[in-house]
Amino acid sequence: MLIKITKSCHNGCIHCCNDSKPCDEHMSLSTFLDVLSFCKKNDNNLIGHEFAGGEPFEHPLIWEFVKEYFVYFGKDKILTIATNGHYLAENQQLVCEYLDKYPNLFFQVTYDERFYPKKLDTTKRIFHHKRVCVTDRLTHITPTGRAVTNKIKPTDNVMCPPCINLKLILEQCNVFSLNDLIKLLRKFNKYCIPSIQWDGSIAFGEYDSCPKIVTIYDDDNKILKAIKDDDCNGCPETMEIFYSKIQNGDLKIKSTI
Ligand code: SF4
Ligand code: SF4
Repeated sequence: MLIKITKSCHNGCIHCCNDSKPCDEHMSLSTFLDVLSFCKKNDNNLIGHEFAGGEPFEHPLIWEFVKEYFVYFGKDKILTIATNGHYLAENQQLVCEYLDKYPNLFFQVTYDERFYPKKLDTTKRIFHHKRVCVTDRLTHITPTGRAVTNKIKPTDNVMCPPCINLKLILEQCNVFSLNDLIKLLRKFNKYCIPSIQWDGSIAFGEYDSCPKIVTIYDDDNKILKAIKDDDCNGCPETMEIFYSKIQNGDLKIKSTI
């Protein structure tokens, strides 16, 4: 599960699937602590979690959240922070200190000069740290958010809206709890769904545009029923790709994709 701790981002990338903009919508500390107990109950088989956004480093309490995460999970889990990398570049010394302090802390930096307007110097020392992974060429662009408004061509590997895997597993397997569902998703290497939003709501896909029908305070029955009943068509361009791939025989609907 992604934990989207903020909606805010100042980077203004032309392809942003979340259409992220500067804003004040950050997860509160009390919601974050509730998210941790929700995660412990529902995804205790995962090796760790990912902070995402927006840009996680625009959250004013980011290091407080990191501290609480490791207080809560100790050495049992790893925490990855998905970032555009600018905070790391501008605070190398501080980030190194936190990397020393938390051996299970990782960073996933994504930058691609074709889409990210602010130049990132990936030759800086911090980007060579063994727990900082840098992706400098996007291999997956979905037709959502600003990629649609800016008419960015989706990559060929786009197959379907991410929420479909939740539905396919519920259709095909005996699933009685969210924990079972997440365990099965992991088996199929699907890690990003469902995603928890800054306000404690849960989306069945990864995008900010995904409807939030349930929250971390709802029980398994309500969440599983909502996944089954959800009839979202909130990313029509991705659905179009999905249907055309099915028609062309490129996808098998009876497996997770
Ligand atoms: S793609 Fe990432 S860095 Fe770029 S605007 Fe969106 S959230 Fe910000
Ligand atoms: S917008 Fe709707 S259909 Fe698209 S991924 Fe999100 S929940 Fe699924």
